[in-house]
Amino acid sequence: MNSYDNRQSDESYMRDALRLAVKAYEADEVPVGAIVVRAGKIIGRAYNQIELLKDATAHAEMLALTQAEAVVADWRLIDCDLYVTKEPCVMCAGALVHVRIRRLIFGCADPRSGAAGGRRIMILETYIFVHVVEKNHALACHRVMKRAARILGDQ
Ligand SMILES: [Zn+2]
Repeated sequence: MNSYDNRQSDESYMRDALRLAVKAYEADEVPVGAIVVRAGKIIGRAYNQIELLKDATAHAEMLALTQAEAVVADWRLIDCDLYVTKEPCVMCAGALVHVRIRRLIFGCADPRSGAAGGRRIMILETYIFVHVVEKNHALACHRVMKRAARILGDQ
């Protein structure tokens, strides 16, 4: 796969993640969607379900990683990539390190609580390759977050 193909699939997987973020938004959750991809196949997909499950750890990334672990029947996700609409928090960034994810692709930065290159904490910086996708997707992610922030308030 050349870098152009790679970029194309990054965009298409990020679009899938965005669709999940919209689902979270519609369910009055903080709108974050995440997808785990292995060898061109989606093996985990989730959106935030903190309110639904009454579980502060039910972030989209955590749920998608758990699904992927079940599919590969291993806690190691060394040949998997995670696509998420927003920069992961400390908990999710830590989980990505633990599962040994190959690559993280996130849509928009989270200057307040991001831990993958955000302003204060950079857990992932030395562990895995962090890549921010095309600007238009970043903007789309920001739009979804902004809309949700208006309705949900600053949670
Ligand atoms: Zn998180």
